[in-house]
Amino acid sequence: MDHLYSPIEAKYFELEKTFGAQNYHPLPVVLKRGLGPFLWDLNDKKYFDFLSAYSSVNQGHCHPEILKALFNQASKLTLTSRAFYNDTLGKFEEFICTLFKYEKVLPMNSGVEAAESAVKLARKWGYEKKRVKKNNAKIIFPKNNFWGRSIAAISSSTNPVAYNNFGPLLHGFETVPYDNLDLLEAKLKNPDCVAFMLEPIQGEAGVVVPSDGYLSNVKFLCNKYNVLFIADEIQTGLGRTGKILATDYEDAKPDILVLGKALSGGIMPISAVLANNEVMLCIRPGEHGSTFGGNPLSAKVAKKSLEVIINEKLAENAFELGEIFRKNLNDYISKSSIVKLIRGKGLLNGMVIKDNGMKNSAWEICIDLMKNGILAKPTNKNVIRFAPPLVINKNQITKAITIIKSTLVKFENK
Ligand code: PLP
Repeated sequence: MDHLYSPIEAKYFELEKTFGAQNYHPLPVVLKRGLGPFLWDLNDKKYFDFLSAYSSVNQGHCHPEILKALFNQASKLTLTSRAFYNDTLGKFEEFICTLFKYEKVLPMNSGVEAAESAVKLARKWGYEKKRVKKNNAKIIFPKNNFWGRSIAAISSSTNPVAYNNFGPLLHGFETVPYDNLDLLEAKLKNPDCVAFMLEPIQGEAGVVVPSDGYLSNVKFLCNKYNVLFIADEIQTGLGRTGKILATDYEDAKPDILVLGKALSGGIMPISAVLANNEVMLCIRPGEHGSTFGGNPLSAKVAKKSLEVIINEKLAENAFELGEIFRKNLNDYISKSSIVKLIRGKGLLNGMVIKDNGMKNSAWEICIDLMKNGILAKPTNKNVIRFAPPLVINKNQITKAITIIKSTLVKFENK
């Protein structure tokens, strides 16, 4: 690959290869700058960012207001730990609870920590409120779920790449097919079942969208069997799918809402778990925590990141441009030999590539998209995820659609 790249780019590839753990397979591009929906590489080549750091940069790269909040707070107070009160956390907590209509929030850092906190909360609630027999609590997940890489997260995974040779795994997790209410109901009937944790659209699994009515029926069934409905909106939340939350599309307010990624506009790891007192107060001082969770800097950054999403109507923009994106590409796909379909909501979309006997076609298409100025990556082998920052405008997305189509042409009937 080196001959295609300058010596300085080759040096950066080599450094990561030599000194970094080899747990990712990046596209061969070295980025140095970002602004709004764009990224620039070392040669000042400009790209549309169509990944948004896995939906973390919904507000666009280096959003000036979020940066201002960051810089202002960074020069005053960054970390006190929760051993003391500080003058920013409470205001953020009030803001986010009011916005999402919950009584309490638990601030954490990465997504997987928040999702794991939700799992802990559900178990605690199960023993203390539902009166499940000690150590018998069951939590149900859909097959192909993804909520991170901790031992707990991989214990619910159905992907051997995630769990092979990392055992022993945790007990008490069971899976059901996604988008199947009958099989879910059979699991929820078990009196030991305390929660069902669900991504409203499965992101890493390849942007899999459930049938209309699935979310509200999940909510109904969870209520019926006194099981907590946990929505992992770490990827789907905060405007990404064309609503502030993907669960807003239906009557499906979760008992526990998990947020991350764009909660900081991509500036730093900030995540949160929201629930009402009945659930959240099951955890008492000393039973859960995080040194950095809820630090003054993240409280300020998260509040501003949410304000930007609301004030700039980013969910509405995602809804409108998502419709345009899918309509345009669907017109193309109806005549395509290489693309099977495009699916998604708002600006979380997956383009399913046909096998056509060509090895790694989704990866090859992403390489060509990169050459043509769009950065996107395959997820689940044959699906290319398209998830630009939600600040992208109509002209920009139209231009990106043109690039995508002209890139695909080369792969037709190959
Ligand atoms: N949940 C979902 C739905 C995700 O997509 C991810 C990450 O991609 C996570 C949880 C884990 O988040 P993090 O990588 O910040 O730990």
